[in-house]
Amino acid sequence: MPIRVAVIGGGAAGLCAARYLRAKPDVFQAVVYEQADQIGGTWVYTENVGKDKYGLPVHSSMYQRLRTNLPKELMMYPGLPITEGGRTSFIKHTEVLQYMNRYAWTYDLHKCIQLLTRVQSVKPIVNCNKTSWEVTVKSVKDPDATPQVNEFDAVMVCNGHYAVPSYPNIPGLETFSGKVIHSHEYRHPEDFKGQTVVLFGAGSSGCDICVDLHTFVDKIYFSHHIPNIDALLPDNLRQVPDIKSIDKGRVVFTDGQSVEADVLMLCTGYLYDLPFLTPECEVVVDRKRISPLYKHILHTKHTSLSFIGVVWTISPFQLLACQVRFAMAALDGTMILPSRTDMDADTQRDYEYRCDELKYPHHYAHKMDHLQWEYNKELLRLANVVDDDGATLPLFKELYALTWRLRAKDLVNYKKRIVETSDDLTSWQVL
Ligand code: FAD
Repeated sequence: MPIRVAVIGGGAAGLCAARYLRAKPDVFQAVVYEQADQIGGTWVYTENVGKDKYGLPVHSSMYQRLRTNLPKELMMYPGLPITEGGRTSFIKHTEVLQYMNRYAWTYDLHKCIQLLTRVQSVKPIVNCNKTSWEVTVKSVKDPDATPQVNEFDAVMVCNGHYAVPSYPNIPGLETFSGKVIHSHEYRHPEDFKGQTVVLFGAGSSGCDICVDLHTFVDKIYFSHHIPNIDALLPDNLRQVPDIKSIDKGRVVFTDGQSVEADVLMLCTGYLYDLPFLTPECEVVVDRKRISPLYKHILHTKHTSLSFIGVVWTISPFQLLACQVRFAMAALDGTMILPSRTDMDADTQRDYEYRCDELKYPHHYAHKMDHLQWEYNKELLRLANVVDDDGATLPLFKELYALTWRLRAKDLVNYKKRIVETSDDLTSWQVL
C-alpha cells in the first residue's frame, strides 16, 4: 500500500511536494488540497484586498508591478529550466506564475490537486506506535456542503507564511488621521499620487515598495533601524529612525523629530498561521518560531507531519526541493531518523547557534540566508539522495550573493540589470 500524503497548499512548496511524491507512485499517493481556484499561491496576483470572491481572506501579497527580487535562475525548480521573461533577469510576477503552471503541466500535477478545497483541521490518530492523520476538508465554492473527513499516513504543510500581516504596536496608531495600510494590501503606486508617505520597515517588501512608489508620491520617509542603508535610493526619500508614536497626523520618530504624513505604510512582515492544526498536533508557534521542528521540517514527535517552506531569506525553489526530499526520505524509510531526544537536541543546538554565535534575535529562528547552501546539502546527504536534480549548483550561491551586492549598491535600478548565465549553469556575467 502506498503511503498516503496530504499536501496542504498548491503554491511553490505544495507543487514541489507533488512533483517528487508523484515521481514514486509505488511508494506515495499524494493529494494536494488548495483553497484557491488556481495553483501558484502568493504568485496569483489579485486586485482584491480583504476578502476574495469566495469570502476567504486574500492570500496573495503581490503588487501589480512587482518583479522578482532574485534573478530568474534562482526562481527555478530543479529539473525544469526557466525560460519565461526572455532575456530579462528580474521577471514579472505573472511570468513566475506562468512558470509554475508549466511545472504543474510538465509533471502532470493537476491529477493530484483538488482546487477550491480548504483544509479545516488536521488531527493525529495514534494507534500503538503508528500515527495517522484525520484531515477534514471543506469545499470553498459550496460552504454548506458537509466537510469531508479523510485519513492519511502523512501530512505536508505547505500553506505559506506571507498572508497574515504582522502589525506593530505603535502608541497612538489608532489616532492617525491619514491612511494606514499594510504591504499585504498594497497594489498600485498611483493610489498614493502626490502624497507624503511614512514607510515603516526595511525588509524585502519595504525596500521594494519604496522603489515602486517613489515616482508617484511627493515624499517618502523610510523609517527603519538598519544602521546604514547606503545604496542609491530615490531622491525624494529620506531615511529616518523607527517610529516612536503617532499623534493624529504626525508621526514621531525615536530621535524626536516628527513629520506630517498622509499615509503610513506598514511593511512589518507576516505571521506564521496554522489554524487547521488541532491542539493534539502539539505544534507551538512562538512568534516567529515553530516548534518542535527537526531541521526546520519534521515534527520531532509526529515525524509524519512535515512543514515545507517555513524558513526564510532563501532562494526558495531549490531549497523547497531539498526539504521535500528530506521529508519523503523520513516517510519511506530511506533515512533512519535519530531518536526524538536527539532530534530535539539538534533543534536546540541550531537555535542556540543562531542566538549565541550569530547574535540573531529569537524571531530569526528560521532565517537561513548564508546558512541555506550547506543546509540544502545536509538535507540531501541525510536523506541519502544520490541525484540532487541540480538543486545545489554552486552558481545559485554565487547569484544570490551577487544579487545582494547589486541591491546594496543601487536599490532603485538593480532589477534592470541582466544576469546572463551559461547554458550549463556554471558561469555568469552581469550586463
Ligand atoms: P504560498 O505561495 O503562500 O502558497 C501557499 C498555498 O497554500 C496558497 O496557494 C494558499 O491558498 C494555500 N493554503 C493556505 N492555507 C490553506 C488551507 N487551509 N487549505 C488549502 N490551501 C491552503 N520569493 C522569491 O524567490 N523571489 C521573489 O522575488 C519573491 N518575492 C516575493 C514578494 C512578495 C510580495 C511575497 C509575499 C513573497 C515573495 N517571495 C519571493 C517569497 C514567496 O513566498 C516564495 O517564493 C514562495 O512562493 C512561497 O511558496 P509557498 O508554497 O511556501 O507559499
